[in-house]
This record gives sequence, structure tokens and C-alpha cells, in this order.
Amino acid sequence: EYKEIATPSRTKEILKKYGFSFKKSLGQNFLTEPNILRNIVFAADLSEKTNVIEVGPGIGALTEHLARYAKQVLAFEIDGRLIEVLDETMEPYPNVTVINEDVLKADLVTVTKEIFEEDLPIKVVANLPYYITTPIMMHFLESNLDVAEMVVMMQKEVGDRITAQPSTKAYGSLSIAVQYYMEASVAFIVPKTAFVPQPNVDSAIIKLVRRQTPAVTVTNERAFFKLTKAAFNQRRKTLWNNLLATYGKEEETKERLTVALSVAGIDPKRRGETLSLQEFADLSNALAEVKI
Ligand code: SAM
Repeated sequence: EYKEIATPSRTKEILKKYGFSFKKSLGQNFLTEPNILRNIVFAADLSEKTNVIEVGPGIGALTEHLARYAKQVLAFEIDGRLIEVLDETMEPYPNVTVINEDVLKADLVTVTKEIFEEDLPIKVVANLPYYITTPIMMHFLESNLDVAEMVVMMQKEVGDRITAQPSTKAYGSLSIAVQYYMEASVAFIVPKTAFVPQPNVDSAIIKLVRRQTPAVTVTNERAFFKLTKAAFNQRRKTLWNNLLATYGKEEETKERLTVALSVAGIDPKRRGETLSLQEFADLSNALAEVKI
């Protein structure tokens, strides 16, 4: 008989059996709201034709739902104390593999090749440890792993930054880093009351779908990301002042920047936060062209 892990009573029972105490430093807030889990799995649109990577399975609340719909589930859990718990709770799910490792240190391409038996589209579905949301997102985006979709829970405020449009307060280099590769949207908001222990902030489920090709065409990705970081260095400064702070104030540099800005048709007095992805790409490509 199937007793769902993510109810408050079953979670309590499991935690008590293992004498488990939460580690705040590891971002341990466990979901105890079955409906939220169902909505996450629904948003991820899983099937026998998908493999899933989960970050931080905890005691397996989300993992068991993933296991029921996906072909295989590969879960990274850093906390060794949870491995014996998962050995028991995941016992009915032979398609789940738990690896006791810091996901940020994992070589995703190698591990997935080793664990996934079939070469199916990979989706990342997780209730992320909030203290490292951005590093985890960047680790997946910058790895050479072909992730088709990510459906991930994070602080609502970080979700706002990831999905932000130009000329809004939340728009910044993180919005650009993510939206360059993925189409980003908020799937739904989750109240703090859905977790034990309750976090201080509300959360959001963010859905990211890989674009066929990046959102904009750039001649040099590293230079493009360097430029977007430079533009948001100090939000209240003009684009011009932020660019000088990163690229230097030499006459030659100023001349290069002036020419590139003019080629891209961007007023140097604008603020970085008003530039669209396309404008950043135009400016980056112009900078690469200008040789003085
Ligand atoms: N998935 C469970 C749930 O929804 O109830 C737990 C989610 S909890 C927000 C985050 C989980 O990530 C914890 O189990 C924590 O131990 C784990 N974790 C924290 N840092 C990690 C890291 N660097 N690599 C892998 N797992 C990590």
C-alpha cells in the first residue's frame, strides 16, 4: 500500500525514526504539501520518455513523484545522513539512483552517461537549496549537458530576477545569463506554509525551456557575459560609467567604446537595465569588431 512521503504526518514519522535534525546551512526545508508536488510534476510534463535529475532529494518527497512518471531519476544529495533514509523511502522505486555528492562538484555529463540507460531528453526538477540557487542554475546552464527543461523551486525574489524583462527592478545579469539559453516563466507561487521548517520567504516554481538556439547571436559568449555583468555593476550609474569601471579609462578604450556604442545605436547615458538582450548582443558584437 502506498503512503505518500510528503504529508506532514508521514514526514514527521520518518524524521523521528532517524532522529533527523534540519541543517539550516544546507537549505533544508522539506515539502509537506502533496498538492504542490502534484503541480510540480504536472508542470514538468514527465513521461517514460524523460530522464530526470533532482538536486537535493531530502527524504524523497518529490523524488517518489518523479520516479512514478519518469524513466529514471538521478538525485544528488550532499547530506550523508539522508542517504540511509532514502535507501528506505526509495526502496519501491528501482529507477531512482541517489548520489551522495555536492551537485556543484558533479561532472554532469559523465555521471548522466553512466547512470541513464537510455538517451532520452533530460529535465531538471528540484526544490533547490536556496543558499546556492544561482550557482546551481549556472552549473547546469554552463555544463555541456543538454538539459531540455528545468522546473525548479526557488525564493520568489530570485525567480523574479530570472524571469525579469528590461527596465524593471529585477532585471540584471542573472536574467540575461538564463534567458540567453532558456525561455523562462513563473509556473506558480508556493507559500511558506508548504514546508517544514517554514522558510522566511515565499517561493516560486520557475519553468525554463531550452531554446533551439540562444536568444541572440553573439560572436563571443564570454565577452557578451562580461559586458552584461559590467553594465549592471552599479545599477544607478550610466552605462558609460559602468563600462569605464570594467574596461578602463584609457583614451583608446574610451574611443573603442564610443565607436561600438554608436555602431550599436545605444546612447551611453542610458542605464544598463534598459538594454534588451538584443542590444547587449549588438554592443558586444560591435566591440569585438572595433579595432583601434
Ligand atoms: N527535495 C526535498 C523536498 O522537496 O522536500 C528537499 C528540498 S531542500 C529545500 C534542499 C535539499 O538539498 C536538502 O535535502 C539539502 O540537504 C540538499 N542540498 C543542499 N546543498 C546541496 C548540494 N550542494 N548538493 C546536493 N544537495 C544539496
